[in-house]
Amino acid sequence: PALREGIEPSRVCVSRRVMVLVNPQSGRGQAMSLYTGPVLSMLTEANISHTLITTEHQNHARELVRNADLSQWSAIVILSGDGLLFEVINGLMEREDWDAAIRTPLGILPGGSGNALAASVHHYTQAGPALGEDLLLSCCFLLCKGLVSPLDIVSVRLSSGPRLFSFLSLAWGFVADVDIESEKFRQVGAMRFLVGTLLRLASLRTYQGRLAFLSARDDDSNSPSISSSHPCSSFRSSVQCKPHMQGQTSNQHECTSESTHHDHFLLPKNDRLVDDLLNPIGDPVPTDWTIEKEQDFVLVLATCHSHLAEELMVSPGARPDDGHLHLLYVTAGISRPALLRLFLAMEKGTHLTCECPHLRYRRVQALRLEPITKPGVITVDGEQVEYGPIQAQVHKGYGRIICG
Ligand code: ADP
Ligand code: MG
Repeated sequence: PALREGIEPSRVCVSRRVMVLVNPQSGRGQAMSLYTGPVLSMLTEANISHTLITTEHQNHARELVRNADLSQWSAIVILSGDGLLFEVINGLMEREDWDAAIRTPLGILPGGSGNALAASVHHYTQAGPALGEDLLLSCCFLLCKGLVSPLDIVSVRLSSGPRLFSFLSLAWGFVADVDIESEKFRQVGAMRFLVGTLLRLASLRTYQGRLAFLSARDDDSNSPSISSSHPCSSFRSSVQCKPHMQGQTSNQHECTSESTHHDHFLLPKNDRLVDDLLNPIGDPVPTDWTIEKEQDFVLVLATCHSHLAEELMVSPGARPDDGHLHLLYVTAGISRPALLRLFLAMEKGTHLTCECPHLRYRRVQALRLEPITKPGVITVDGEQVEYGPIQAQVHKGYGRIICG
């Protein structure tokens, strides 16, 4: 195996495997058959030693990674939708050793109905569009290559309750309503978002609220993280795989690795992840923020990645560690046909060139949203959270994602 500088071969004999988490209930309930089909054969072909864990209930994955001995795992791979990765990231951040734990390489294989990160990871390779099984094969191939890049992590604060960590999105209004209302159509897979969008368009409504944000600094050269165009390592570079000779099953191999820590990345030495850009939620926002006038919105969406679903490219320019939330909002007054045109344009990511006067796009480092319309729905990474004031700040490149 390729030995890392400064590590003596004699100290090297720790077995490390990939943890593959499968949610059998995700999407149309087909994730297990995806595992036993294309996923298992590709991982076997690539000699990736792994352990399959099927989740048994909501928050199972969260509890599992919160208590796991991470020195045994070279990566955690999620075969599900984005919801299971949200659990894993929050479980890692709940640990005492969160700052090392969040640097565990994470992999995503599309097995849910909302596969936004998988679609984004594929998009970052600059390959042409891929859906369904093609997307799965592409993501599986990236996993076998094993290149790891920094991943932005967003700290989300609600007016009560503990803080949440997000890797994907924060939504209010149209998009959040569609996400939650379409849960009942999950049997149709990714089509649920189309069905939900058409139904919500028929009963289009507006949402009153206040929005404020801190624009992105164009010069962020002081950032501690490594550029996304240079994947910083391979989670396999220090791992040698060889078949387990006795009692070997197709998904069990033995691996040796030189290091037990994800210690080769540059990170600031903070004791705690401090949200230095946010004021307490009851106080006014800092003076360098932009405050939008109180108004009626159709949707407010902030996302870290290019895709919000397999066929919804909401921010084509996003990169996994650009340090930005890509904030899109649509103000009241837009007609139904114009809104439908925007969503259709999002299939190819051309909506920002539509010159729709109701659509705004900003790259921001932090934001605050205060809904006035009640009741309502806010989602973080597609999961419904407490409804009320919410604010968020991006932490550039704090996580790790296996991505081409
Ligand atoms: P989808 O894209 O289909 O929504 P997700 O990965 O987002 O797939 O998972 C949906 C939800 O299922 C998540 O909130 C997750 O916590 C929950 N979950 C995970 N495992 C199980 C299980 N075995 N049974 C029921 N729900 C589960
Ligand atoms: Mg989901």
